[in-house]
Amino acid sequence: MVIESYIPTVFHQLGLDIEELEELEEDAGLGNGGLGRLAACFLDSMATLGLAAYGYGIRYEYGIFAQKIRNGEQTEEPDDWLRFGNPWEKARPEYMLPVNFYGHVENTPQGKKWVNTQVVFAMPYDSPVPGYGNNVVNTLRLWSAKSPVEFNLKFFNDGDYIQAVLDRNIAENISRVLYPNDNFFEGKELRLKQEYFMCAATLQDIIRRFKSSKFGCRDPVRTSFDTFPEKVAIQLNDTHPSLAIPELMRILVDVEGLPWEKAWDITVKTCAYTNHTVLPEALERWPTSMLHSILPRHLQIIYDINHLHLQEVQKKFPDDWERVKRMSLIEEEGEKRVNMAHLCIVGSHAVNGVARIHSDILKSDIFRDFYELSPEKFQNKTNGITPRRWLLLCNPSLADLIAEKIGEDWIVHLEQLQQLKQFAKDANFQRAVQKVKQENKLKLAQLLWKEYGVKVNPASMFDIQVKRIHEYKRQLLNCLHIIVLYNRIKRNPAANFTPRTVMIGGKAAPGYHMAKKVIKLICSVANVVNNDPIVGDKLKVIFLENYRVTLAEKIMPAADLSQQISTAGTEASGTGNMKFMLNGALTIGTLDGANVEMAEEMGQENIFIFGMTVDQVETLKHHGYNAYDYYNSHPDIKQCVDQIQNGFFSPSNQDEFRDVVDVLLKYDRFFLLADFDAYIKCQDRVSEVYQLLHMKYHTLSYINVPYAERLQDQSKWVEMAINNIASSGKFSSDRTIAEYAREIWGAEPTWEKLPAPHEPREEEPAVK
Ligand SMILES: *Cc1c(COP(=O)(O)O)cnc(C)c1O
Repeated sequence: MVIESYIPTVFHQLGLDIEELEELEEDAGLGNGGLGRLAACFLDSMATLGLAAYGYGIRYEYGIFAQKIRNGEQTEEPDDWLRFGNPWEKARPEYMLPVNFYGHVENTPQGKKWVNTQVVFAMPYDSPVPGYGNNVVNTLRLWSAKSPVEFNLKFFNDGDYIQAVLDRNIAENISRVLYPNDNFFEGKELRLKQEYFMCAATLQDIIRRFKSSKFGCRDPVRTSFDTFPEKVAIQLNDTHPSLAIPELMRILVDVEGLPWEKAWDITVKTCAYTNHTVLPEALERWPTSMLHSILPRHLQIIYDINHLHLQEVQKKFPDDWERVKRMSLIEEEGEKRVNMAHLCIVGSHAVNGVARIHSDILKSDIFRDFYELSPEKFQNKTNGITPRRWLLLCNPSLADLIAEKIGEDWIVHLEQLQQLKQFAKDANFQRAVQKVKQENKLKLAQLLWKEYGVKVNPASMFDIQVKRIHEYKRQLLNCLHIIVLYNRIKRNPAANFTPRTVMIGGKAAPGYHMAKKVIKLICSVANVVNNDPIVGDKLKVIFLENYRVTLAEKIMPAADLSQQISTAGTEASGTGNMKFMLNGALTIGTLDGANVEMAEEMGQENIFIFGMTVDQVETLKHHGYNAYDYYNSHPDIKQCVDQIQNGFFSPSNQDEFRDVVDVLLKYDRFFLLADFDAYIKCQDRVSEVYQLLHMKYHTLSYINVPYAERLQDQSKWVEMAINNIASSGKFSSDRTIAEYAREIWGAEPTWEKLPAPHEPREEEPAVK
């Protein structure tokens, strides 16, 4: 057993079941999708590598909404996750800090002063982040908004005491609820306040800790910040905390009295920026009018930064006025806005993308001008996932099986999974791996029956796409494939067919019309397919309600096929792809994000790659994409698009999916039909390989396959699965974090392992 614990025994003695208790614990759904989950994996790795790191964020009272599917449509319910309290957190009122908003800027002999502000307090709540087996515990510090006692004093003076107390909510609304958009910028005032609230509280906290350390207090009157960038590294997770840059400048210049140049040098050396997307609709561009009213001093500082930055641009590229305009932090067309990504690049010493292909696109495309100005800033840090959660915890049987073969070091040195390569063709190991997968599938099937009342065939291929619903992720392309399979069965029910259970899950942003339509379409197709007696056990379609981390932990171990089918150049990295790979699912995917590096690690023969490359997508854009070319020349496309169009899946409302078809044929930014043919052909190859495995373990029908070929190929799928697991070492977030530490933060990771506290030492008498 890899997990050794006495807790289950104690629970058993008390007549309790620890698994039941685990089910009762709420997810801390404080993020939207991959980006927040990445931060959580990073916290685990930073603690495991012994790095003295804090995670900072907002303690939202309501996390990401709970998704309910009613009549095939998504509805949202508030996620009241703190309802029964949170046993892992500790409020730290002694470290509460003020955050200012509004007011105006005054010129004084001592410099600029931000005055007449409204104050909201930031109350920190700490949660422990234990490293794996090294006795290190780091801190996740989340800020909660607290109204000051004197909030709305004028009402008190007017005698409206009740109204004044009620209005305290206005200030405390800052940390009320997570904005539920993934990869989409919503320029709301409350969202801007949230972002500044987190930056202001966090920077004060960092500076307080620096000052109280031996590095900050050499001079008791005036702190020297000379060593600040050596001792502090601030990694900006996307542009959401970009206001940290002008805020650090404000503190150093206005509060600590440093000269601008010195403050700027410290700020740039301290900050580093990770870009997570190139989609234009996701890039934060705050109107200057909003900044002017809420953060007037920060807007001034941004203008000053921009002035000096554009001088540098002109120095390097004299008289290139187009370039100067493109590189400005301020966009002048239409409503005047601040481009927060530009601010982050200028204010950081390192800028990185999250997979090699994505980092290359940053340099050659969206940030090309900035790369030409400061090439030394640009880096790549391919994302990773923590093997503790995404294998050891969620798939204990596979973890045990691996440990039997290669020991337990892989838990903190995931590259050691390579040793499994030698067993990829070993019949006994293949049988054991297949058995674990089959048991995990059976468990998921039971859960689907218990929770959703759906019956699935556990011998069928579990074909899964789980991720936020977004047009660029192309769940609609997956749906078209399902319709193609359905039409094939109907056309020739007696034909050979590899049984599949297709599962799709993910939340749509509540205001994202097209994403919600796609959910409805999937549910409508499921309704037709699942209730057709001709189809029977061959094909089932399930929309997995309320996809979240606890559900992911049950899905990954049970998956046969992982769908990672975004348009090349749109998915920055993906991390779901890595979770599937680590748990022995095969991937059907495009050459996008980290899929590229996954294919490289395992070899093309162990993954199903299809579709356009980034270059081919660019060429298609250049020549002009016309979906009708594909629709008119491909009978399968025409048939299924027509079915969606004419109400085949929505008999009670013929127009239900009119706008879906409209987008597909007229306004599709993600070229679904251009990849359709390659996708269907690739899926057919997937079916062929799975069919052989299926025959080996489940069916009696050995139709049309010569005996010798059968023996050789029946285990191809499991062999590929083992090669997937064995090649996933690179995608440990430990590797990612070690690279951040050495190449951006100037810190050295350590893998020192201390004896686990529950291993009784010789001199200690056993407890009676
Ligand atoms: C890993 C994860 C994601 C990210 O998935 P992608 O396929 O990379 O978009 C999103 N949501 C949850 C709950 C996850 O666990």
